Amino acid sequence: MALIVQKYGGTSVGSVERIEHVAEKIAAFGAQGHKVVVVVSAMSGETNRLMELATAIQPQPDCRELDVLLSTGEQVTIALLAMALKKQGVAARSFTGGQVCIRTDAAHNKARIVSINQQRVSEALDADEVVVVAGFQGIDEHGNITTLGRGGSDTTAVALAAALKADECQIYTDVDGVYTTDPRIEPKARRLDRITFEEMLEMASLGSKVLQIRAVEFAGKYNVPLRVLSSFEDVAVEQTGTLISYEGESMEQALISGIAFNKDEAKLTVQGVPDHPGVAHQILGPVGAANIEVDMIIQNVGADGSTDFTFTVHRNDFQRAQTVLEQVTKDLGAREVSADDKIVKISLVGVGMRSHAGIASQMFEILANEGINIRMISTSEIKISVVVDEKYLELGVRALHSGFGLEQSIEVSQ
Ligand code: ASP
Ligand code: MG
Repeated sequence: MALIVQKYGGTSVGSVERIEHVAEKIAAFGAQGHKVVVVVSAMSGETNRLMELATAIQPQPDCRELDVLLSTGEQVTIALLAMALKKQGVAARSFTGGQVCIRTDAAHNKARIVSINQQRVSEALDADEVVVVAGFQGIDEHGNITTLGRGGSDTTAVALAAALKADECQIYTDVDGVYTTDPRIEPKARRLDRITFEEMLEMASLGSKVLQIRAVEFAGKYNVPLRVLSSFEDVAVEQTGTLISYEGESMEQALISGIAFNKDEAKLTVQGVPDHPGVAHQILGPVGAANIEVDMIIQNVGADGSTDFTFTVHRNDFQRAQTVLEQVTKDLGAREVSADDKIVKISLVGVGMRSHAGIASQMFEILANEGINIRMISTSEIKISVVVDEKYLELGVRALHSGFGLEQSIEVSQ
């Protein structure tokens, strides 16, 4: 018998029929003798609908009242799911975040969980009930309702699993696991059986939007094994999904686990910057002061006393960054600013890279063979990223996917 926390996202509970399907899955799971805590999101579209109501009154809604409003979405689903479970003869009880004492800080709309008092959950579990908890919400120390940021139900589930020392936290969603890359770009993408927390963080932050990044960080910190599964599979189908955990000793390490990409970046270059101490700070200082986050940075070797300085920002900040740089260019006596928002970042991710040299050159060769020009490169221990022209996204991802043999399963050597 195991204690499992299951989380069902908005599409999984998007209609009464789907809620009843979820109840069937939970009932089947409970029938195997497991204790189950279920965390649910609002029905799909509901959080957006509530947001629209708020912004129709206040374009910048009052953040405390917004949390009171948004948290109602999840309160609807917990009640409906508990009813659906009871209809199937399964003892169940629903709780809001506040009722199970999910204490957060007071940062409305993006609160962080501080503590969970698991007593009420444990009591209900001891009474053999399925515990249904509203995701995405908590209360601050004064009892105000808070929410955890979009997609926050994942974090609720992981936090509950950590507090209860659950055996596993299962995230049921509309895909059946984490893939080597986005199957819409490369139809030969393969579902991974396992991936490490570190790799998943790189994949998630690079645009594979399967899980909320904070939830993965949280799971890594508290060592909660996370499993991503499809909620649409038939109850009878045995699924394994993708397990996200630490590198186990017996875990055969693939060199490359996946290819992530990010279409949300833009590139800016200050050309002809005088090459003397302090210029990097003089350029990025004002950018940071404007609250613009910088991702990759390159400074060329100086020649003739001047150099070029290139970096990437989120596309939403592109215009603002350009304005800041026009001023910086004047102040520094640099030549000019050039800007390009028709770029993408493609990244190879894999913990196996740590112990293998030559991955980068293999990557560059594959891209060169396709005639893809690399504009920027950055590396870390478990990732190599390149910036290329937007039109090469599909070609680049597919070439790397087949070049590194990602469509084949790795052979497990005993
Ligand atoms: N309902 C919230 C949202 O749409 C939280 C969640 O689904 O995890 O962001
Ligand atoms: Mg979600």
